Amino acid sequence: MLSLNQAVRPLVLSLTKMPYFRYFKLDLDKQCRFWDAQHFCVTENCAVEVLPEFNWTDVSSEHQPLKLGQINRPSATGASDDNSETCEDLDYCHIDDDHHCVFVDLVENPERFTGYGGAQAHDVWHAIYAENCFPNTNPMSMTENGSPELCVEKNLFYRMISGMHSSISVHLSNEYLLPSGDFYPDLSVFMERVGSFNDRLSNVFFNYALVSQLIVRLAEMIPIAKLASDESEQLLLANKDAAIRDEYSLLVSQVVSKLGENELFDTSSLFKNVPTLKEEFRARFKNVSAIMDCVGCDRCRMWGKLQTIGYGTAMKILFENDNQAQLKFRRIELVALFNTFERLSKSIDAIDKFKQMYLDHLEDV
Ligand code: FAD
Repeated sequence: MLSLNQAVRPLVLSLTKMPYFRYFKLDLDKQCRFWDAQHFCVTENCAVEVLPEFNWTDVSSEHQPLKLGQINRPSATGASDDNSETCEDLDYCHIDDDHHCVFVDLVENPERFTGYGGAQAHDVWHAIYAENCFPNTNPMSMTENGSPELCVEKNLFYRMISGMHSSISVHLSNEYLLPSGDFYPDLSVFMERVGSFNDRLSNVFFNYALVSQLIVRLAEMIPIAKLASDESEQLLLANKDAAIRDEYSLLVSQVVSKLGENELFDTSSLFKNVPTLKEEFRARFKNVSAIMDCVGCDRCRMWGKLQTIGYGTAMKILFENDNQAQLKFRRIELVALFNTFERLSKSIDAIDKFKQMYLDHLEDV
């Protein structure tokens, strides 16, 4: 996986720096619906720089937020399906799409140490992990001696969340704030949060395998390269250069073809025996995405929302294979999916560098 990541990382990085993939839309003021949470930014590192406001009244109805956020999968006849209700039914996460939304440049607002933590952050993580408590009523979840056991799908839910948590911890350790105000990799923070726990490490690799496989599957379902270079999107982003459109197509196809070289994860048998679990999975993951509104640090909330939409999109690809005719993907889902993959790719890279730092540290003692 390391050599695959070395080959794919420069491509993914270039892709996520391009206009189509670097602008993310979200509502930073949405209220937490689970408890009375305050959106306090304790340090300036929690802040998010938003792009200058669009004046939506000047924009033609074709380019209003609901339309812009949505990409339809072309039907067999080439016409696009415009039934947004079906789309919501098949979603695994909540997506902000209203006039309170702002656009953020992800490249200018990197995921790194912010200082957010303590009881508030613990409550959020606790609420997220609590969504993993599926009732143990399914006979498949019992071992031969009658003790409860997580079935493979429930295990997937847990590993995905834990892998996301680990990845966030890797980034904040990798760009940890020094007293000088600079950001630098901190080995002891990494070891305390992730490096000393084999399961936390392996869940990052698990998510990498899962998401990369689902990007390949998505490319078989929809023409991502064409969508990314679609002219109407380019208009919104004030970028009409044909050469850039060609670069999108090339980069997306190179990423997909590299990821398709090895099958890292076999998803074919999931949910075959427990179809009802899929609905529960969907409802619970939607709750996880809604819990993001309770994160009391704008920068953390933004990256948390992006990654839950990224995993939600991955699950949509994974579980809605049988519903391909009704499946639609919005631009924001593709943005979130590719940026979530970029985050995982950066985590794998950083873990490798931390491993080297750890070995060097052992030699010194
Ligand atoms: P936490 O990371 O808060 O973990 C709480 C408990 O969960 C741990 O005590 C442990 O028992 C368990 N746990 C920890 N890791 C795992 C794992 N991988 N798998 C399973 N269980 C685990 N801080 C930043 O500086 N920058 C950010 O961008 C950022 N983004 C965040 C996004 C979200 C959605 C949330 C909820 C928090 C974010 N934070 C961010 C805060 C950060 O995640 C920690 O909560 C904070 O740094 C305090 O860390 P901690 O060591 O006390 O344990």
